[in-house]
Amino acid sequence: MKVLVLLVAIIVGAAHECHGSEHGASFQIFPLRMKTGSGGHYIPEVSCASWRLGVEAHNVIEWKTVPLSCEGYIGNYILGDQYRSDSKTVNQQAYFYAKTLNITAKDVWVFDIDETSLSNLPYYAQHGFGVEPYNATAFNEWVELGEAPALPESQKLYKKLLSLGVKIVFLTGRPLDQKTVTVANLKRAGYNTWFKLILKDTSIYHGKTAVTYKSSERKKLEEEGYNIIGNIGDQWSDILGTNTGDRTFKLPDPMYYIS
Ligand SMILES: [Mg+2]
Repeated sequence: MKVLVLLVAIIVGAAHECHGSEHGASFQIFPLRMKTGSGGHYIPEVSCASWRLGVEAHNVIEWKTVPLSCEGYIGNYILGDQYRSDSKTVNQQAYFYAKTLNITAKDVWVFDIDETSLSNLPYYAQHGFGVEPYNATAFNEWVELGEAPALPESQKLYKKLLSLGVKIVFLTGRPLDQKTVTVANLKRAGYNTWFKLILKDTSIYHGKTAVTYKSSERKKLEEEGYNIIGNIGDQWSDILGTNTGDRTFKLPDPMYYIS
């Protein structure tokens, strides 16, 4: 028995002192532990990072606003390097996939507009990065300015797909009466050409979810004989439902949720 206890003690002791080395540098392996402050205090940057991961993985759904305690975290994320880097990873993967394909004249790629092709960050930065409840009047006033900049990494993908000969379809939840300003905004932001721009006909889709609306419009495209080789958006409702495309790409968006 004493021998067994001694053996266990030696093994436990060895595990605690386990050292590794990589490129000549020595480091100690610590047991994984929760990053909480002394006394287990709540740390917003940790909890908000978990919340954001939950949002992106579609585990946190149907949320109305960003948690109040996460305004600073989300603002830093969106304005900092991480959002740009995350967007770049998604768009790069989309391009790596697209360039493996033999593109035909029937191949289309579906782009969402808001927070995918165009960024409403100038608006959201003035409205708490999603902490404030959605205000349709204020948001539509912003849209009507037609000043939304492009999301740079998405625009790179757009240009590369065009050069591969892929047809671009913009499919947006913006209503038909925002068509003129949306066309002007897309061109102003550097999206100069597309095959189709589909806006929401509220006489057909009033009260319907984005999943229903977008699925239905993608179905029409496929019934017209087009192949949706790719589909990219910032909302899960852009990529769920039917006729989703051969591959879907989810861009980050921790500021709002559309079902
Ligand atoms: Mg969007």
